[in-house]
Formats: sequence, C-alpha cells, structure tokens
Amino acid sequence: MIRKLLRRVFRRAAPATNALPDPAVIPVARHGVRREHISPAANKVCSVLQEAGHKAYVVGGAVRDIIVGQTPKDFDVATSATPEEVRALFRRSRIIGRRFKIVHVMSGPETIEVSTFRAMQDAESTETDEHGRVLRDNVFGSMAEDATRRDFTVNALYYDPTSETIIDYHHGVADLQQKTLRMIGDPRVRYREDPVRMLRAARLGAKLGLSIDPDARAPIREMAELLENVPPARLFDEMLKLLMSGNAVKCLRQLREEGLHHGLLPLLDVILEQPMGERFVWLSLENTDERVRQGKPISPGFLFATLLWHEVLADWDARKAQGEHSQPALFDAMDSVLDRQSGKLAITRRIAGDIKEIWALQPRFEKRAGKTPYRLLEQPRYRAGWDFLRLRAQSGELPMELPDWWEAFADAHPESREAMLVPDKAGAAKKRRRRKKPAAAPSDAGQA
Ligand code: ATP
Ligand code: MG
Repeated sequence: MIRKLLRRVFRRAAPATNALPDPAVIPVARHGVRREHISPAANKVCSVLQEAGHKAYVVGGAVRDIIVGQTPKDFDVATSATPEEVRALFRRSRIIGRRFKIVHVMSGPETIEVSTFRAMQDAESTETDEHGRVLRDNVFGSMAEDATRRDFTVNALYYDPTSETIIDYHHGVADLQQKTLRMIGDPRVRYREDPVRMLRAARLGAKLGLSIDPDARAPIREMAELLENVPPARLFDEMLKLLMSGNAVKCLRQLREEGLHHGLLPLLDVILEQPMGERFVWLSLENTDERVRQGKPISPGFLFATLLWHEVLADWDARKAQGEHSQPALFDAMDSVLDRQSGKLAITRRIAGDIKEIWALQPRFEKRAGKTPYRLLEQPRYRAGWDFLRLRAQSGELPMELPDWWEAFADAHPESREAMLVPDKAGAAKKRRRRKKPAAAPSDAGQA
C-alpha cells in the first residue's frame, strides 16, 4: 500500500524529460540502503540543499557499494543547484575545477563532493580528439541527463536520504542484484568517448563481483588500443586505483582476459610472460591485496618498484654483460626503465624517487660483512627494502636464507650481531691480496 503510494507520489515528482526514460522509484525494502548507512555529512548536505528547494541525492559509487554490502570510500552528492548556489549554502565550502565547477563541502572531518547535474554528450556539439575521445564535458543538464551520461547502470543510482528511496533510470538496482555490470547506452560509443571506461569495467567488475555484460565486454579487445590516446596522468590515476583497490590480482586477471594489459604498463605483458617475473608480480600483488584487506598502508612506490623490477634486472644484466661495473650499471638500468615508463604512465617524481630508493638498496643486502649491514639497518627505507627482498626470494630469484638472515640480524641483540656476519668470499679474497702487499703486517694473514 505505502509502497504503491510512494511510487505514485515520486513518479509524479520525477522530472518530465524528453525521450529519456522515466525513472523507477525504489523503496528501501527493495534496496536496503538506510539513512544510517550514509555519512552524517552527506545526509546534512542533501537535507540543506533540499530545504532550500533544490534536488539533492547521494549518487554513484557510494550507493552501489552499500547495496552490495561494501563500505563506501567517499560520498558524492548530485544536485540541481548551481555551484554558486551550493557555495552560498555552506560556510565551509569552496568551488573547485575550472572547466567544470564542483563544490567541496567540508563538514567535520569529511569532504563531500557536490556536482550539479550534467548534460549528456552528443557527438555533434561536443569537442573530441581525432579518435572520438571527449575533451570537454561541461554543460549543466537535467537529472535524467545526468543519469544517462554516467558509465554503468549500477553507477547511476540516486539515493534520497529523506525518503530512503533510490531513483533508478537504468535498472541499476536490478543489474546489481543480478550481478551484472551493464553499460548505459551503446558500449562502443561510450568507450570511444572515454576509453578509461574499459579499465573501469574491469576494476568495478572485480571489486563488486559483477560479471561484465557481454555487450560491454565484447568490444574491449578490439578497442583496447584507444587507451594509448589517454593522457598518461589519467591512466596513472586509474592504474593506481586499480592496483591499490585490494583486488589487484582479480583486476589484472580480468584485464589480461580482456586483452587490456597491453599498452598499460607497456612491459607488463613481457613481465607476465617471463616465468620468474610473472611469479614475482603476482606475489607482490597478492601481498598488496592482503595488506589492503588488513588495513595496512601500501605505497605506490613499493608497488611500482615490484612491477618494474624484472625490467630493471634484464637491463642491469645486459649492461653488466657489456662490461659496465655493477653499481653504475644498476643506476643506469633504473633510469632507463623509469624513462621508458614515463611516456605511458605519469609516475610522479616523488614516486619515482621512492621506487629508486627501494631498488638501490637491493645490492646492499648481499653484503653481510664488515660495517655495511649495521649501516643498512639504520636506513629509513630498510623495512621497504627488506619486504622487497623477501618477495624476490619468495619468487625464487634469491635463496630464502638471505631475507631470513636479515630478519634474524635485525632482531638480534646488538652484542650477538658480530658473530652473525658472513664474510663474502670474493671480498675476503680481495682483502687478503691487498693486505699481503705490505710485508710489515704479518699478523693480518692469520685473521683474514
Ligand atoms: P570508486 O569510487 O569505487 O573508485 P566510482 O564509481 O565511485 O568508483 P568515481 O571515479 O568516484 O568512481 O566516480 C563517481 C561516479 O562518476 C561514478 O559512479 C560514475 O557515475 C561517474 N563516472 C566516473 N567516471 C566516469 C566515466 N569515465 N564516464 C562516465 N561516468 C563516470
Ligand atoms: Mg567514488
């Protein structure tokens, strides 16, 4: 009874739109999202906007995540109010973005991103690059248009905290319940407008446990190369999201199945085809996923250091084979691998610095004699370096005995460390040769 009444009331209240679908108004009994699931700040932003006569809904990933029982990362609000109107209603808020203005509303520790409904893109009036990628997308529109320009049906759900209903233009709730990731509109057109949607399909499918609808899945293989025209900074952001999602293994398996790993990390496919490199990369991704699940911090530097390590190893070996000394050869190899990647992935300078620190520590773990081990323990990045070393050993690149030794050495009482040192044979031989020369130190020979 009440449900029917609600549906009638909300259907009448829905905007009259030309040729766009009428939305379904879905009551809480069918989707289970309650006001308490929404953050206090998002609830407040919606109610303030609504009281001022605007439409305002929690939208996008948050609604979707709550329905599948996951905790949303953040809450976005979509509204009929213009950015200036939003700004005027909240003291702690600021307008950001040049091309398309959105408003950040601060409330307690939270920041809510509030966007005005945006219009759809149509091929004629929209500026695109020569491959059809949309360059500008900055016209305000109706709520129905805002829903239609979103990527997947499960991402176009508008939750009204006041009535606890979901306004659903594209059967997103049903798709979510049937575990399907379905594109709004023609997938080929949507991928052409924005090739990153192919990556989002793989990532969201893995994250939410949804299977990609065959219509959205089929064109990915043939359209994957469009990713090459996406600006590196955007690609890097999306890759980071994917790799740090806690589902990296699942995501990359999905990407590989869809033929999407080519051109992303240009050498990822090569790496994944080297037996040792492949083992190492998967181990590192499993390790990252596990850390995310345990709520431990993960660093992009560590992650990219692992993804690119076997490239460095190959380059380093090639340089040593040409007679370059080990240490400078390693540094040259690091630079050349990072240079090659930077065209595709805008690895920021800070992250590149972190990556290099981890790599540069590696040869130092092989020296277990003299003062070197003590100095290595003092390094601020010792722990990251050791984690990296252990992954190398787990993948079969080094004997497990090496990270085990370092763990024991680090844990040992300072007084018992001395006895643990392992003079390396080559180094000891060199020392002996050097010390033999001055005949004035007879007692040395016995100690060497
Ligand atoms: P998550 O936050 O879990 O990474 P999300 O779907 O919330 O996933 P956001 O990047 O936060 O991803 O985007 C918020 C919303 O904006 C999405 O739910 C979707 O409705 C819309 N959106 C994001 N990227 C695109 C895109 N490339 N094309 C169309 N709509 C998009
Ligand atoms: Mg989001």
